[in-house]
Amino acid sequence: MQRKEFLKVLTAGLIGSQFSSFPGLAQDDSAHEPLKGEYQFNPHFVWRGPGLGRRIAMTFDDGPSPGITEIVLAELAKRNLTATFFMIGSKVERYPALAKAVADAGHEIGNHSFTHPTLSSLSEDRVDQELERTQHAIAQATGQTPVWFRPPYGAFRNNQGHIPQSKNLGVAYWSVDPRDWAKPGVSAIVSRINSGTNPGSIILLHDLHRQTADATGAVLDQLMEASYTFTSLTGFLGQPYSPANAHAARLARQS
Ligand SMILES: [Zn+2]
Repeated sequence: MQRKEFLKVLTAGLIGSQFSSFPGLAQDDSAHEPLKGEYQFNPHFVWRGPGLGRRIAMTFDDGPSPGITEIVLAELAKRNLTATFFMIGSKVERYPALAKAVADAGHEIGNHSFTHPTLSSLSEDRVDQELERTQHAIAQATGQTPVWFRPPYGAFRNNQGHIPQSKNLGVAYWSVDPRDWAKPGVSAIVSRINSGTNPGSIILLHDLHRQTADATGAVLDQLMEASYTFTSLTGFLGQPYSPANAHAARLARQS
């Protein structure tokens, strides 16, 4: 069901002239360079998912962070909710047990680079290393191989898209940013998420600061009260490079 919905969006987006009405898929966003050939319709850059069933995805970046990630995990566990954690490879190497605890709790682990650089200004080789080392560190520590990658600061060029693609990594941005990294206060984090979220939202938080950890319980309660349902990224987008999705993309290109 989930995959089917993804394929529907993917196929419609690739075939249809109304491509721009599918905000979950990459297009000529003005922040990114225009592209040529098939990358112009690269379906593997996403900002949101299908909103069916009021689904949303909570994502936590920049961990694992001892003393913070545990609190976030406990708040999710209390409510039996699943999220996605975009981890920094060097921190996974430093705190492998904590990374494993996140995976063992049933959450999805994503790749957030090895050293958190501005990837858009790096050479292809450097970008490749950042992604590869992180894939390796996460697999070693957790047994999970990520299928989604999130560029630090969202700084990534469409013409770098072949690098994550070569590792079967989709590129996942976000649609709701409460700017928790600036420590605006718990109530600001909660209210920004509350007003910014709608079905299909991908919400960006950071398991890096105590304030975010302190806000997590209230954020989750509010969203639950608003009848949202929580899923991992792959839960509502499917795997970006699963054979079925690749086949759909190929068919769509041929028609
Ligand atoms: Zn980050």
